[in-house]
Amino acid sequence: MAAPLRLLILGPPGSGKGTICKKIVDTYLLAHLSSGDILRGHIIRETELGKEVKSYLDNGLLVPDKTMVNLMTTEIKSMAQNQGWILDGFPRTLSQGKELARHETFRVALYLDVPFRTIIDRVKDRLVHLPSGRVYNLEYNKPKVPGRDDITGELLTQRPDDRPDTVLRRLESYKEMTEPLLTFYKKKEQLKTFTGETSDAIWIDVKKYLDLLS
Ligand code: AMP
Repeated sequence: MAAPLRLLILGPPGSGKGTICKKIVDTYLLAHLSSGDILRGHIIRETELGKEVKSYLDNGLLVPDKTMVNLMTTEIKSMAQNQGWILDGFPRTLSQGKELARHETFRVALYLDVPFRTIIDRVKDRLVHLPSGRVYNLEYNKPKVPGRDDITGELLTQRPDDRPDTVLRRLESYKEMTEPLLTFYKKKEQLKTFTGETSDAIWIDVKKYLDLLS
């Protein structure tokens, strides 16, 4: 029997990682191990770990490497032996990557390389209806009435997080943290980079590549 497909996915915030990851999971029937979702699950269930990590998530800080490595390697170990998986959001730092390498093997790390300019432009046009979380985009998903929510007619706003200067800062900090990890995987010939401006275009290349692997 062929070895199960085991992958990592890396990409800056706004690169469409969530969209691509969902398509991969649905197409290749992989377990989706999202570190953010797993942490949020612990917080909601008020587990010991949830209590320990809550303030990090509330403040947008990274959870300490040791906690993350323990959590994620335990999650991976709980998978059936023939189950394929994709890790999303982990590893985030070089130290997490090195520790993961001591515990687990995977086939390839997929890196979504979307130009920062494209991400900033995309987010700049995003408006939200805060009470419901409905999201609009001035380019490709306009509200029926400019500046108003389609359902309630209430005012739409831009998230402070989506302002170009804030987005750029977030991207720079992602780059600083993740670049050593990318170099690490490149050296081990475990990195496959997909460059593109839209998720649709990137997905075509990712699928072509994974069809050959799986
Ligand atoms: P995400 O949903 O991937 O944006 O993650 C939400 C939050 O969970 C992050 O802001 C961090 O506080 C925490 N987190 C998720 N993954 C990691 C990781 N690999 N290392 C450290 N903290 C993480």
